Amino acid sequence: EIEIRGLHKSFGDNEVLRGIDLDVAAGEVVCVIGPSGSGKSTLLRCVNLLEEPTRGQVFVGGTEVTDLDVDIDAVRRRIGMVFQQFNLFPHVTVTENLTLPQRRVLGRAKAHAAKVAGENLERVGLADKADAYPAQLSGGQQQRVAIARALAMGPEVMLFDEPTSALDPELVGDVLAVMRMLAAEGMTMMVVTHEMSFAREVADRVVFMDGGRIVEEGPAAQVVGDPQHERTRHFLTRVL
Ligand code: ATP
Ligand code: MG
Repeated sequence: EIEIRGLHKSFGDNEVLRGIDLDVAAGEVVCVIGPSGSGKSTLLRCVNLLEEPTRGQVFVGGTEVTDLDVDIDAVRRRIGMVFQQFNLFPHVTVTENLTLPQRRVLGRAKAHAAKVAGENLERVGLADKADAYPAQLSGGQQQRVAIARALAMGPEVMLFDEPTSALDPELVGDVLAVMRMLAAEGMTMMVVTHEMSFAREVADRVVFMDGGRIVEEGPAAQVVGDPQHERTRHFLTRVL
């Protein structure tokens, strides 16, 4: 579903991605771990073209998104992204947070967008908050709204960049539960996370990045439980 081939990204002289090759199969959940500055966010951002790769190719669902002729907006519609900061629209209700992008980007009629919004709020357990404003919700609830907003666009793949890092510890579980549900439903997911228990339980594969390269990858039990590389071991002793 996602194929990354020889991906390089530099910011000026700073080579942040130094040749990433990674496949995420349809329905697979891949967790990306690694120290601060290793290029994890840049990798996700290159997949949906929030950053333009310096070199290499990215394919999503067989379409080369790095092709210069590609319609970037059409590509982004197929890729949902959830960030550490929830980025909800503060001045409109939860429902409107879900309906406005559907109407603007997908051109859906009001009634259709509202129906899809309701279904997705139901999925994340927040149907009762439809008329609330973001500031009236907890951080965990806001992040679940952000996930529902991405899902309402009907994405083929979902990218998560440290979705629970800004949350109080007691709110993390509800967000991870929604992500577990998506994984169980067969959503293709790339998840940058420091939640090692989530990686162990949910990820089909864990990728450890350092210095813009993939140092080690494999089943979670192997990479997290029995890492082969010294750098992976060192990282894990600090986060576990
Ligand atoms: P963290 O765990 O702290 O989120 P990360 O692995 O996600 O780190 P990136 O955010 O991908 O790391 O950043 C990798 C490097 O790229 C850093 O050195 C950062 O300063 C640099 N970088 C990222 N975005 C930009 C940008 N827009 N312009 C210049 N440099 C950038
Ligand atoms: Mg990051």
